[in-house]
Amino acid sequence: MRAAILYGPLDLRVERVPDPDHDHDHDHDVIVEVQAATTCGTDVKMWRHGHRVLPPYPCPFGHEMAGVRVDTGERVLVSDSVACGQCGPCLASRPQICRSPRWVLGGFAERIAAPQCALHVIPDGLPAPAAAMAEPLAAAVHAVARGTDAGDVGVLGGGPMGLMLCSLLVAQGRSVTIADRHPERLEQARELGVRGMERLDKHELVFEAIGRPEAWRQAADAARPGGVVVLVGGCPGGTDVSFPSGPLHYDELELRGAFHHSPREIDAALRSLARGEVDWRVLCGETIGLEQLPEALSAPSGGRARKWVVDPRL
Ligand SMILES: [Zn+2]
Ligand SMILES: [Zn+2]
Repeated sequence: MRAAILYGPLDLRVERVPDPDHDHDHDHDVIVEVQAATTCGTDVKMWRHGHRVLPPYPCPFGHEMAGVRVDTGERVLVSDSVACGQCGPCLASRPQICRSPRWVLGGFAERIAAPQCALHVIPDGLPAPAAAMAEPLAAAVHAVARGTDAGDVGVLGGGPMGLMLCSLLVAQGRSVTIADRHPERLEQARELGVRGMERLDKHELVFEAIGRPEAWRQAADAARPGGVVVLVGGCPGGTDVSFPSGPLHYDELELRGAFHHSPREIDAALRSLARGEVDWRVLCGETIGLEQLPEALSAPSGGRARKWVVDPRL
């Protein structure tokens, strides 16, 4: 089969590799024919700098994927991780921060082998690209759950994650303001029924969806006294971020991390897409083949937020 293999930073090659059913490491894996794998900011980070969840090079690549089970013909989303079920966080019902998850990467390929428990049935009528986007949407579902039920919410960052957060919050009937410096992204936010600004004012609940130290600080700065900030964007590995101590102490400002998702949140994301609560088409970029992937990953950021849809059959 053809697959995009990552050989090192900025070195992604599309080549012929053995079919995944020749891999005897995991006997109970199911083979899924990939119909859509979407790109995201994490892919760009992985491609540029490597990432802590990547196995040693050369390695498979792509973590938002949906397709068809070869054995049953069922349409499925393949989750990018399976929690161990035995560590402290798993036993405390927080599988998203599992200490030894199995990462399931390799969506940018014609086929992928995945453990059965990583598969989620796609609701009827939901197209494969939308189902692939349920993976990042599940992380947004999780981030919203890490917040509070405040009615007045600010979102910092109008990339795909920021816009997904907005969609979920609007569907819950909250008043949402988003801040981004790109007018095109503010326009996209308006299409979702969200107020767009260049900077956030003060809000009871703030989501940070950029992943840079200065954005983390800006998000903290945009919270009202007694407010909660949910940090959704991951800063580059090992970055120190400093905050003024005053608001954390005197205003009881709460900073909460949000990472990844649980299997239940993936199902919630799929349902939310199937009900039309999240308009995935707003985020959908062009559909491309595997060969166009390096070019797509190096496309300049800015402009409208979009996710490329890789169809490995093209
Ligand atoms: Zn992603
Ligand atoms: Zn675990």
